[in-house]
Amino acid sequence: MKICSKCGNGKVSGNREYCFGCFFWYEVIESIARGSKRYMICDGICYIIAPPAEINDPFIGSGGRTYVFSTMGEDPRVIESRNVWYHGPVPDYFRNELPDNAIMLY
Ligand SMILES: [Zn+2]
Repeated sequence: MKICSKCGNGKVSGNREYCFGCFFWYEVIESIARGSKRYMICDGICYIIAPPAEINDPFIGSGGRTYVFSTMGEDPRVIESRNVWYHGPVPDYFRNELPDNAIMLY
């Protein structure tokens, strides 16, 4: 069994290069590279803006709590959503590839 070349911990199956945990973050990197604006990274924590949902939708993110983000960069935007999913803390070994891109205002 190979060990993941990124984190040095996870086991890699088949002909993959990275473990499951690192693959999870590479999908975020690739989505952002393809132009996705759904990922908000604030103080090293990643959140996903999901499509708008009804407040009584059992799968609404964070129980329907309203989040307000301000994106960083050349074209800052304020994004308000009631369907935000917690994606988790970005591992230290991905912080260069996934730097903060937003500020949580609320
Ligand atoms: Zn890994």
